[in-house]
Amino acid sequence: MKPIVNIVWFKRDLRVSDHVALHEAIQTDLPYIPIFIKEDFYTSDPHYDPRHLQFIWQSLKDIELQQKLHIWRCEGSVLQTFKALQTHYSIAGVYSHMETGLSITFDRDKAVKKYLQEHAIPWHEFENNGVFRKRQNRNGWREDWRAQIGRPIIHLDRDVLLRLALPPAATSLGIQEWTFKKAINKNFQPGGSSRAQVLLKTFLEERQGQYMQGISKPLSSQTSCSRLSPYIAWGNISIRQVYQAATARKKSISSKRNLDAFMSRLRWQAHFIQKFEMECAMEFRCVNRGFTKFLPPVDSAKLEAWKEGQTGVPLVDACMRCLQKTGYINFRMRAMLVSFAVHYLWLPWQSISQHLASVFLDFEPGIHYPQIQMQAGVTGINTVRIYNPIKQSIEQDPDASFLKVWLPELAHLPIAFIHEPWKMSSMERLMYSINEHTYPAPIIDLEAAGRNARDKVWQWQKDPAVRQEAFRIIAKHTTPARVV
Ligand SMILES: Cc1cc2nc3c(=O)[nH]c(=O)nc-3n(C[C@H](O)[C@H](O)[C@H](O)COP(=O)(O)OP(=O)(O)OC[C@H]3O[C@@H](n4cnc5c(N)ncnc54)[C@H](O)[C@@H]3O)c2cc1C
Repeated sequence: MKPIVNIVWFKRDLRVSDHVALHEAIQTDLPYIPIFIKEDFYTSDPHYDPRHLQFIWQSLKDIELQQKLHIWRCEGSVLQTFKALQTHYSIAGVYSHMETGLSITFDRDKAVKKYLQEHAIPWHEFENNGVFRKRQNRNGWREDWRAQIGRPIIHLDRDVLLRLALPPAATSLGIQEWTFKKAINKNFQPGGSSRAQVLLKTFLEERQGQYMQGISKPLSSQTSCSRLSPYIAWGNISIRQVYQAATARKKSISSKRNLDAFMSRLRWQAHFIQKFEMECAMEFRCVNRGFTKFLPPVDSAKLEAWKEGQTGVPLVDACMRCLQKTGYINFRMRAMLVSFAVHYLWLPWQSISQHLASVFLDFEPGIHYPQIQMQAGVTGINTVRIYNPIKQSIEQDPDASFLKVWLPELAHLPIAFIHEPWKMSSMERLMYSINEHTYPAPIIDLEAAGRNARDKVWQWQKDPAVRQEAFRIIAKHTTPARVV
């Protein structure tokens, strides 16, 4: 007779504490296989990059090191893996968190569900970070979110956790084991719950006081913001853990403004993912279908220049190069990058979304797509912001310290020129060795492009089809009397 086991399937929930699926599995007192499957899309789908796999790898290693729990690291398709496990074990149940993902994981989940149903194996899926399945609208969502986030944090009994876990044996069962074979790139935040806890602690105890002051600035935000996003996106820490720690800290400080702003964003995390959960077609089409007819064709040369950080507009190029190298840029600069591509370069938002996903270490489909559409101005319910990259540069990086880090070819320029190098006379260009070989001239006429965007984008908002769709979106995706 085959041994009876449960499977705990780790996906974007790479932690042990406050892990509902793991907790529920060990309540059954059956042995379990803790498993992560590195599926093919991590290397073939353009949303993903080796930086994501590195983060996942480090997260799994951290669990091994800190918790002594050895998660089976497998490679291949989920169905093949489950089939291989089934030849050796009788699977009592599969335990996992719900995933609000791209179409590729949605389709995979449908296939897994069908397979498990055919084999009469129950799939126990648990709500993740206050995002709910099968909602038709937002009535009562906020209250439900609060209730979830306020629940006690789950602390697992480590003795039981380790006693019931089956040690990794993938290879002996004919399943390919996954190893991250590249050299670790130290420019990216390293994955792991232990690092997430340290960041949370330093943020709450030392950095939160600077939060709002630095949030829009590309340089100071690197330390004044929490920097928890990749840890939240890959599940090294739950929102409940972060929110409850922030609530406790709030009691001991006099000025609560910064923590209040931070905690609102923890709610936005679920707010955006809930939108995607309820309308995942927004991976491909405008949430407001009225905008579809306005989308321009792709200009490949402009798109490449934007991706490479070679548009000739310093702040845009510096942000893109920072992202490529470190995987992080703050919210305001992300919004500016989208706005520049869509409004100034006149590219369709679909042409930029995968590239941004691949460079964001914290890529979270459910935040990413609704945010891109919002910043691209194709929701019809949010105020459209067309960010002027020169104004942003002067306001958010007045002494050009960020520009100097990422554009070394401009670092020797006086501040008066560094934000707008094209304003130099030919003699000054000669003096400072700025030419087409050192730094490109802007690939567009900024003023004309900005004017064109303002005229058209605001005109579009008045289109009857856009307005009609806006009513549908408000009814479905916003809490009564609020538009977030
Ligand atoms: C075009 C665009 C794409 C984005 N894509 C992602 C993404 O793929 N993954 C991602 O985590 N964030 C994304 N964001 C939101 C935001 O920029 C990042 O969450 C934030 O910059 C991460 O830094 P932090 O952890 O220091 O955030 P903090 O300011 O310290 O905030 C704490 C946490 O709250 C959440 N959060 C903060 N701001 C937002 C927001 N505006 N919307 C939703 N949740 C928020 C994040 O989980 C974040 O870690 C995107 C924003 C834009 C404009």
